[in-house]
Amino acid sequence: MREKVAGILATQRTWTLMAADTQPQTAASGLKAAIIPVTPFQQNCTLIWDEATKTGAVVDPGGDLDQIQAAISETGIQVEKILLTHGHIDHAGGADELRARLGVKIEGPHRADAVLLDNLEMQGAAYGLPARNVTPDRWLEEGETVTVAGHVFDILHCPGHSPGSVVFVNKPQKFMLAGDVIFRGSIGRTDFPYGDHEALIGAIKTKLFPLGDQFAFICGHGPTSTIGAERRSNPFLT
Ligand SMILES: [Zn+2]
Ligand SMILES: [Zn+2]
Repeated sequence: MREKVAGILATQRTWTLMAADTQPQTAASGLKAAIIPVTPFQQNCTLIWDEATKTGAVVDPGGDLDQIQAAISETGIQVEKILLTHGHIDHAGGADELRARLGVKIEGPHRADAVLLDNLEMQGAAYGLPARNVTPDRWLEEGETVTVAGHVFDILHCPGHSPGSVVFVNKPQKFMLAGDVIFRGSIGRTDFPYGDHEALIGAIKTKLFPLGDQFAFICGHGPTSTIGAERRSNPFLT
C-alpha cells in the first residue's frame, strides 16, 4: 500500500522523496530513502539513494550497525559516503566503525560539534552504549554543498540543539534531512551542554521557513513532516 506522508511517498519502509505538491516523474526517478531506527533513542538513521544508479549515503549511523548493514543489503545500494547532522551519540556513535566497515568517508557536521564527537566514547559509557570518538573527513560550513549520487544538498548551519548541527537541503526535490533541529510538532532539546534555545528558534525561522511550505523533511526522531505543517501548527514556532 502506498500512502502519501508529508510529501514523501511511502512504500512500506522505503520512501520516494518529493515536494508535497508534485508527483514523482516515475517510480524509478530521483532520490529514495529508508529509515532504520537505531539505539535505545530510536534515532532515524536514514539511507538515501538514487534509484537509477543504486548509489547512496548513510545519514547518522548512531549505532546498531548490523541492522544498518542489513538494510543496505536489502536495498541493494552501494554506499558512497556517511553524512552526519550533528555530534550526539544516537546520531554519530557508530560512524567511525561504519566508516571502517564500508571503507567510505564521513562528511559533516559543522566543526563546532568537534567537542561532542571527541567525547562519544564518554557519552556512550554514560548511557551504556558502545561508541567511538570520530573525526569526520570533511567539516561542513553554511553555504557549502554535498552530493549523494550526484544529487546536490545545500548545507545550512543551524546551531541551537548542538553548536554544529547542519541541515541537508535538496532543492530540486524540496527535501531536507533535518537531524534534531526540528521535529513534527516539536524542536530539538536545548537543555544539553552547548544548547541554545534562542539560536535554535532563530535558525528555524530565518533559514528553514524561508525555503517554503512545500519542503518535506526526515528528522532525527519520530515521523516526517513539512515546513508548512510546522509553520502553521508547531507550538514552539507559532
Ligand atoms: Zn541530538
Ligand atoms: Zn537525536
